Amino acid sequence: MPTTMKAARIHAYGEALRIDEVPVPQPDQGQVQIAIVASGVCHTDIHATSGDMAGRPSLPFVPGHEIVGRVSAVGAGVQQIKEGDVVGVPSLHWACGECDYCQAGWETLCHSQLATGYSVDGGFAQFCVAPADFVTRIPHGVDLYEMAPILCAGVTTCKGLKQTGARKGDWVVISGIGGLGHVAVQYARALGYQVAVVDISDDKLELARRLGAELTVNAQLNDAPSVIQREIGGAHAVLVTAAAKTAFRAGVDMLRRGGVCVLCGLPSGEFPVPILPVVLGGLTVTGSIIGTRVDMDEAIAMAIEAGVKVQIEKQPLENINDIFARLSKGEVLGRVVLEIS
Ligand code: NAD
Ligand code: ZN
Ligand code: ZN
Repeated sequence: MPTTMKAARIHAYGEALRIDEVPVPQPDQGQVQIAIVASGVCHTDIHATSGDMAGRPSLPFVPGHEIVGRVSAVGAGVQQIKEGDVVGVPSLHWACGECDYCQAGWETLCHSQLATGYSVDGGFAQFCVAPADFVTRIPHGVDLYEMAPILCAGVTTCKGLKQTGARKGDWVVISGIGGLGHVAVQYARALGYQVAVVDISDDKLELARRLGAELTVNAQLNDAPSVIQREIGGAHAVLVTAAAKTAFRAGVDMLRRGGVCVLCGLPSGEFPVPILPVVLGGLTVTGSIIGTRVDMDEAIAMAIEAGVKVQIEKQPLENINDIFARLSKGEVLGRVVLEIS
């Protein structure tokens, strides 16, 4: 067992990550240590390292929250997981289990929660530690690199779609066909929805068509809400997974009466909500943040049963700054997954 490891760390908000040689973290009581195999790069990692998210953690830290690896050591008191088990570490690193939210099944809203790759060092490294109670078992026989993005992109969109309350046959718009959105299209098809998609890149729209989207709209060339209203009479539900602020108001404007717009993207700032259409049309605008451990089990099971396949591009840890630059510019098709081992 090595005593040091490579980790990509952010030392100053908005600056490049540095590959540092740091001590391998050791598992405390109730924790497991994981030798990371695959680690997805989510757009939230860019928000986190630019410092535009709430509750900035102390620097330096290791981003990354779509982690799959093998348990390499267990801390005292860990019973349910043993060395060699293949597990995933999601964004929800830990929640208290005792507050009103945790007790009501909303551990993702826990005020005391810890976030992997933000308040606790994450997956852009060779090893990490996590509470045994919050790691996810990865079923045998799956591709670990393709599974890593399910730990955030998968569970977030699967949960967000459930929050729309849409029914089989309803029209659901996925706005933003990046890492999250291209997975959302597949969950939406698996749930029996008719899927329309909006993005500003024709490559992304083409990918969505291959994954089952029936209507595609380029929001840079068209007024996307007008097209959605004209072609399908407005959407029963919209899932906004774009990282751009303009997509938020557009999402609300795409709804038919009684429709639900679920917001997942995390650009900082505000957007105007039009009062009359919301009141007269009985619209719902709501947020959705990652998923609970129960949501995670469902997202993984459904990904396997329905054949949800993440389009991945493998890259070495050393390329992390180049990957961030491409992701910021919208140049990644699907998800980049770091090939750690
Ligand atoms: P990504 O960069 O892979 O994808 C974003 C997509 O949005 C790109 O395809 C881009 O072309 C598209 N886009 C840009 N402008 C657009 C517009 N005006 N209309 C429609 N599409 C547009 O990012 P990602 O990893 O999929 O993450 C997307 C967003 O979701 C980020 O803000 C991220 O922080 C957030 N996120 C939220 C949660 C959550 O729990 N709520 C979880 C993970 C990620
Ligand atoms: Zn994420
Ligand atoms: Zn709690």
